[in-house]
Amino acid sequence: MGSVAPFHSKLPSTDVYHNNGKCTVGNNIETYNKVSGTGGLRLCQQCRDFNAQGK
Ligand SMILES: [Zn+2]
Repeated sequence: MGSVAPFHSKLPSTDVYHNNGKCTVGNNIETYNKVSGTGGLRLCQQCRDFNAQGK
C-alpha cells in the first residue's frame, strides 16, 4: 500500500494533509510547498479512500 509519512501544503488554502503516495491531490503539491507532518489538519478524502482500499 502507498502509505507515506504525513505531509501537507503550506498554502493558506490547505485544509487537509496526505499520507498516501498514490493520492493525486497530494502529488499535485509542488515540492517547494510540501511540509512534513499533519499540520493539525484532517486527512484528505482521497488518501482515506486509498488507505481503506489497501492501496
Ligand atoms: Zn491525499
